Amino acid sequence: MKAYDLIQQFGAGLRPTKPPTVYRSLDFLMAVGLVQKVVTLGAYMACPETPETGGAALLVCTCCHAVERLPVPGPAAVSNAPPDFLIERVLLEASGRCRRCR
Ligand SMILES: [Zn+2]
Repeated sequence: MKAYDLIQQFGAGLRPTKPPTVYRSLDFLMAVGLVQKVVTLGAYMACPETPETGGAALLVCTCCHAVERLPVPGPAAVSNAPPDFLIERVLLEASGRCRRCR
């Protein structure tokens, strides 16, 4: 879901929600691991209720914009990172076509 879709949904029938309020809320939800940004689509998606200890790869369909979340072993996914860089979380996105669109 895109941020402006959220703004429209939360403002329906009430005072419109201001964009900075939605972006601050999304920033908070991302910081606590409940929401993840889908950079390829400029959108956001909910994370699983159980926090992942490793990381996640997002498989983004360029045709229908479906996003599938694929758990990956966090630091092992970027094993060539310099040893003095502490990896806290790994996020990967791959774009292509889903099974249905192929
Ligand atoms: Zn698709």
